[in-house]
Amino acid sequence: MKNIALDGPAGAGKSTLAKNLAKALGYQYVDTGAIYRTIAYHYQMCGIGPRDKDNIHKFLGDANIEVKYEAGVQHMILNGTDVTDALRTPELSSFASTVSANPEVRKYLLQMQRQIAKHNDCVMDGRDIGTVVLPRADLKIYVTASAEVRAQRRLLELEAKGEKTSFAKVLADINARDEADMNRTVAPLKQAADAILLDTTQMDADEVLKAALALVRERGL
Ligand code: C5P
Repeated sequence: MKNIALDGPAGAGKSTLAKNLAKALGYQYVDTGAIYRTIAYHYQMCGIGPRDKDNIHKFLGDANIEVKYEAGVQHMILNGTDVTDALRTPELSSFASTVSANPEVRKYLLQMQRQIAKHNDCVMDGRDIGTVVLPRADLKIYVTASAEVRAQRRLLELEAKGEKTSFAKVLADINARDEADMNRTVAPLKQAADAILLDTTQMDADEVLKAALALVRERGL
């Protein structure tokens, strides 16, 4: 199977690129952030909050998570219920980051991600795909952009969904999440030694896709 790993900080354009690239190549798009968000959602439902760091490894066994695809769109199923639409709130973004720093949680989700990649040509996006999940991926791209541009993109996304927030709040949230994701002990966000850096600060989605497709062609994928 062919595997492309996309890593980078929040709002860098990874998921837009991953979706576009997967569509262009006929691969499966795998959003691993949604998997971490589903675990965080499970904890919320169990009444475990961001301050209960010590209890995060408990309750894992009760989370039966499935990743399903309908017309190419990824759905997250938690204990039989489709929770996809509940996953993209700012609270869950921040809580997913807390939860994902837990080694037991990461271990629990690792095999699931590897199994998907083993059975599908895929573009997988996340934080540790090139470094930990798929160290032998056919192509690794580290997607980044300035924090201000990433916050602006995230703000537009939230506003489009009707969320009331401000640029300053979104920027602060993004910076806090990057800081946590880059400095955790297990599988921190970092560029793999063999990943290609793609800075999207000055690029629109089409330009980013073109640049990635050029890398895909170079690799003969
Ligand atoms: O990509 P997304 O913003 O949906 O990810 C939510 C959080 O899940 C990230 O901030 C990060 O802490 C965690 N995550 C991770 N490893 C991944 C994907 C996401 O730790 N491969």
